[in-house]
Amino acid sequence: MDFNTNYTPEQQAFRIAISGWLDEHAPKNLRFPPDGSPLNAETQAIVKEFRLKLGEKGWLAPSWPREIGGGGLSTSFDVVLMEEMRRFDMPSMGDNTRWVPAMMVWGTDEQKKRFITPSLRGETITWQTFNEPDSGSDFATVHTTAVPEEGGYRITGTKAFITGRFDPDYLVTLAVTDPERPRRYNLGVFMIDATLPGIEIKTMRMLMGSERRVFFDNVFVPDDCLIGPPFQGWEIAYSIIEAERGGAAFRLSEDGTIESIYTYLKDQRSEQP
Ligand SMILES: Cc1cc2nc3c(=O)[nH]c(=O)nc-3n(C[C@H](O)[C@H](O)[C@H](O)COP(=O)(O)OP(=O)(O)OC[C@H]3O[C@@H](n4cnc5c(N)ncnc54)[C@H](O)[C@@H]3O)c2cc1C
Repeated sequence: MDFNTNYTPEQQAFRIAISGWLDEHAPKNLRFPPDGSPLNAETQAIVKEFRLKLGEKGWLAPSWPREIGGGGLSTSFDVVLMEEMRRFDMPSMGDNTRWVPAMMVWGTDEQKKRFITPSLRGETITWQTFNEPDSGSDFATVHTTAVPEEGGYRITGTKAFITGRFDPDYLVTLAVTDPERPRRYNLGVFMIDATLPGIEIKTMRMLMGSERRVFFDNVFVPDDCLIGPPFQGWEIAYSIIEAERGGAAFRLSEDGTIESIYTYLKDQRSEQP
């Protein structure tokens, strides 16, 4: 098995260009809690400023179309960029964008403009809030409710084990829109402004790392924050989970485990007579 990675001259030229850019712009000597805990306000501010610079170049989403705020590159360039970012020992840039493909399919043009482009330009942070204290991989067990009323929905429930190193602007959330309908045909996905009244976020310290909990207490969410039809949340949420569970062609691990196994195997091979 050949463990060498070969790059084309174009990819190498791209590496030199972004490497120089990162040397100039990437924040130096930042300290991130190794257990995935939230970043302090000062570190968040520094990283957010850097995110804006990356977003301006389309490098927060290098292989996504330029029209929506991406870099318009092929995935191989995406990999080169990720490898160079790794040199600076930075965690992922903080935003969960796995909802973007779902919104490209089910969102309105207005929603795409309002949510996708600011996210890819580094202006907003979104958390994925699907999981609940008593509901995990089986979305049919979601308890959070979204009760329809004039102009929107009232959301009530608790989301648990949420990852969030940065304070969020939006919460992409799954909730039951009609408890009378059959399971799997009774859910909606909402893009919720995290600053709305009735939302409380707590950090729960655990033995290893921490989790964020989001409490929705009768939160009014306007109609135009529902993504797709009100009863199609099951399908929409699973399309987001599909991206999370390996939809991307290549991904560097956040803690470098895969890269160190790769290096170990490569070294073992080169040491063989
Ligand atoms: C580090 C970390 C970060 C996370 N970040 C987030 C986040 O940002 N946002 C978020 O929403 N969630 C997050 N989660 C939660 C994550 O989505 C859940 O852990 C996941 O959905 C699995 O749920 P669970 O742990 O309750 O396991 P369970 O759902 O209880 O699953 C346990 C086992 O039972 C099986 N199982 C479950 N239901 C069924 C069924 N009906 N039929 C057959 N088999 C079944 C599963 O396949 C699995 O093998 C995070 C979790 C971790 C560990």
